[in-house]
Amino acid sequence: MVIKESRKIVKSTPIKYKCDYCGKEVVYDYDVTGSHTWHHFTTGHNEWSNDSVDSIESFDVCSSECYWSVIKDQLNNLEDYKDSAYLDNMSYSFAKELVGGIFKQKDD
Ligand SMILES: [Zn+2]
Repeated sequence: MVIKESRKIVKSTPIKYKCDYCGKEVVYDYDVTGSHTWHHFTTGHNEWSNDSVDSIESFDVCSSECYWSVIKDQLNNLEDYKDSAYLDNMSYSFAKELVGGIFKQKDD
């Protein structure tokens, strides 16, 4: 037999996101699923020991400019771990090549 009682449950839910690069706040729109104007991703590395856990950083960004700025910063921060580092599910070397290709095209 299950004995029940009524309880009020307080649930934490996102109302907006703050860009981790420029600080812009974007209101979370519950009515438009899949239409997000921000991107969430993580970076880190897989070196031995707790260093790998401590290396995980989580970002929310509001635009492509902020995204590439964070990726470029993290490429610099993770350079010593380039053999096992990842940025938004990309390997360090692929992310570096991608950034190089994109910003070479912009300069041309
Ligand atoms: Zn931003």
